[in-house]
Amino acid sequence: MSLLLKNVLLEGKNTDILIRERKIARIAPAIQENAEKVLECGSHLAAVVPFYNTHTHTAMTLLRGYADDLALFTWLNEHIWPAEAKMDAQDIYAGTRLGILEMIKSGCCFFNEMYWFPQEAIRAAGEMGVRADIGLVHLALPGSTTARSAAQIREDALELAANLPQGVRIALAPHAIYTVCESALRDVTAVADELQMPLHIHCSETLREVEDCRREHNGMTPVAYLDSVGLLRENTLLAHCVHLTDEDRKIIARRGAVISHCPVSNMKLCSGTFDFQSALGAGCRVTLGTDGASSNNNLSMVEEMKFAALAAKLKSGDPTAGKDEDIFRCATVNGASYAQVNAGIAEGCAADILLVELDHCRMVGDYNLTANLVYSADSSVMHTLICNGRVIMENHRVPHEEEIIAEARRSCDKFRR
Ligand SMILES: [Zn+2]
Repeated sequence: MSLLLKNVLLEGKNTDILIRERKIARIAPAIQENAEKVLECGSHLAAVVPFYNTHTHTAMTLLRGYADDLALFTWLNEHIWPAEAKMDAQDIYAGTRLGILEMIKSGCCFFNEMYWFPQEAIRAAGEMGVRADIGLVHLALPGSTTARSAAQIREDALELAANLPQGVRIALAPHAIYTVCESALRDVTAVADELQMPLHIHCSETLREVEDCRREHNGMTPVAYLDSVGLLRENTLLAHCVHLTDEDRKIIARRGAVISHCPVSNMKLCSGTFDFQSALGAGCRVTLGTDGASSNNNLSMVEEMKFAALAAKLKSGDPTAGKDEDIFRCATVNGASYAQVNAGIAEGCAADILLVELDHCRMVGDYNLTANLVYSADSSVMHTLICNGRVIMENHRVPHEEEIIAEARRSCDKFRR
């Protein structure tokens, strides 16, 4: 498949971009090539790297607005977990498609998933053409019925990993230290190491998690504890990391583990405020995630960037913290690096390209595209999205939008009280 973008703006200059075999083959003005598909960008669409959402629970779109303005454990125990118990495979497929539709429309080409019925998320991601890491969720408290042996986890992971669509990987996703016991954490890590799969876990999200961990594990913080069981390495993703010590940041940086900063969810659930500037200063790999729609309540990485920038300023009391270019890098290439995608608008890079509408009221004055994307834009400026060389949104339209919304509505009826 070859694709030619004509008259696209790259760093303010008019050029053409040729895509071949899922890579950017050439960038030059007036490329003469008989490509299979040509998109005329009319000198008003700018090419940038799309967003990579590194922490979400996509099918929670079905619980958007279902229970809001509650304390975390009341919200989970009395509302979210009972509703989730009613979800079947068909609901997960419908909710995941709705979430992917929303992500594509806000310029996002990858999501790191932690939710139930992973085979349905794999199917949805494959059909809609996005990249995804689909987590095999693991809950294993002593005596729990969901605990699986290392051999069973290995078997489940291999079964899921057979026949994956292009751009989809399997991750192992032990939920959190308060839902997975130490021996199970060691088992999951051993399987992930053997199969060379990423690990995805919630970490240091609330003060209560940190206090409980210190009490139960010889004064260790969640980060120190996870490091002691061998779970921290380069393709480990730690979601939230709101409550870190200086030592925690050093450990995370040394191990090369990746942080998914989820500012909207952290604010909404009053989990606390991630110290963005200290994490960057310590050399941590910081990325952005939306978390699930029931604690956000949308999956827009554009919004997440603005909240991340504002939270960084508020936390540090320093308006120069959370700079737009740092935030944009976290939301795009840093997330891509976690997904092991060579992202960038340059020859040889993966053909993941977001075309942004510049003839838009939110994008003028047009002095600084990055500042406009972080502070001013919303999803309506996202014009066209190319993922892995395939056009998955063209001129704001994603295939089957109406059907996806109608199907999700049918699933929502089940949760109506
Ligand atoms: Zn989460």
